[in-house]
Amino acid sequence: MTTAPTSHNDTLFARAQLTTPGGVNSPVRAFKSVGGTPRFITRAEGPYFWDADGKRYIDYINSWGPAIVGHAHPQVVKAVQDAAARGLSFGAPTLGEIEMAEEICKLMPSIEQVRLVSSGTEATMSALRLARGATGRDKIVKFEGCYHGHADSLLVKAGSGLLTFGNPTSAGVPEDFIKHTLVLDYNNVAQLEDAFESMGDTIACVIVEPVAGNMNLIRATPEFLGAMRALCTQHGAVLIFDEVMSGFRVGLGGAQELYGIQPDLTALGKVIGGGMPVAAFGGSAELMQNMAPIGAVYQAGTLSGNPVAVAAGMATLALVQQPGFYEKLSSQTAKLVTGLCAAAKDAGITFCADSVGGMFGIYFSAHVPASYGQMMAGDKSRFNAFFHAMLDEGVYFAPAAFEAGFVSAMHDDAVIEETLAAARRVFANLA
Ligand code: PMP
Repeated sequence: MTTAPTSHNDTLFARAQLTTPGGVNSPVRAFKSVGGTPRFITRAEGPYFWDADGKRYIDYINSWGPAIVGHAHPQVVKAVQDAAARGLSFGAPTLGEIEMAEEICKLMPSIEQVRLVSSGTEATMSALRLARGATGRDKIVKFEGCYHGHADSLLVKAGSGLLTFGNPTSAGVPEDFIKHTLVLDYNNVAQLEDAFESMGDTIACVIVEPVAGNMNLIRATPEFLGAMRALCTQHGAVLIFDEVMSGFRVGLGGAQELYGIQPDLTALGKVIGGGMPVAAFGGSAELMQNMAPIGAVYQAGTLSGNPVAVAAGMATLALVQQPGFYEKLSSQTAKLVTGLCAAAKDAGITFCADSVGGMFGIYFSAHVPASYGQMMAGDKSRFNAFFHAMLDEGVYFAPAAFEAGFVSAMHDDAVIEETLAAARRVFANLA
């Protein structure tokens, strides 16, 4: 069942496709996986946004993570307005950048020095370059189903055989650019050990989402991350946690605090910009000293540390440090997934869910998946029907079965209950 497109959204989508490929500026927005017309958003406030037809939705993507304090939070909006009035961009350093670096270092003790950039893609791409520059090695290890932005050497899926190098997932990525990228199974300790056994001393880094949010939500096992930490240390490889999504989302100190494992480098984004383009990568001062202008690894950005974006990020980071913030966020998210599971069970639908802090996964399968393969085995057509029926009900989940969902501090009990009431109706119809 797909929703009949509503008129203004339909008109805008047709118009957008004339001048923008696929009508969107980032592919997942296009509803390609679920079908139908994407909603064009006109405004957002708290847990809600409104589309071009004036329909209100409870928003469970929250800009794919950044809007953790809810949309248009007055303190964030005020910080942005004040900063904008002082000038939009200078191309020279500012106090705000020092304060943001200090804040990140304080909240994530594995980070002693940090460089601000404007997107998660830049953060991971630069972290890889740093790892390669610092180790003098070329090979990198990533895991099937983890997304780290769209840098050439990361757009790779597993090759045909174990420990063979991968294949590009995008046209335009030369084989030569990915011949150093080894793609392994998530949560597979034995495979990781084999990889280090056979080529450990040539591996520059391992990059991982420690709580994966780009193959729906999949938790790393503590054994997997523990083995990764030990192997990287033993072989002199750099361990990079991509916490662009999990950072300040699964808890104040990110997944690294949750698991008690310190990476060598961390990539951040999303929440640290509070909805504006701020991302970062950082780690030990020793490693970070390899960066230009003091070191030999080059990286730069015209809008890096942009004062307006940094102001939004700092206001957001202040709000998430209020006492009890993550306890409340986690318990609201848990209420949502527990309620969805109960509603599905009552309707006799095969369904399960999981959450970590303010991130959640919903799966039309009997068990919470632990790998990309398990996640892909879920019932996608049932997800699509669920997605569209919930959209009709005014609840906006991520428009693809393989994406995680996000809750904000503004999703109070009434909002969660409204969602669950809608889900009960929808599940009953799906059964
Ligand atoms: N890493 C992770 C874990 C992400 O989830 C994303 C974006 N969803 C990125 C990197 C890339 O970030 P951006 O879209 O800001 O380039």
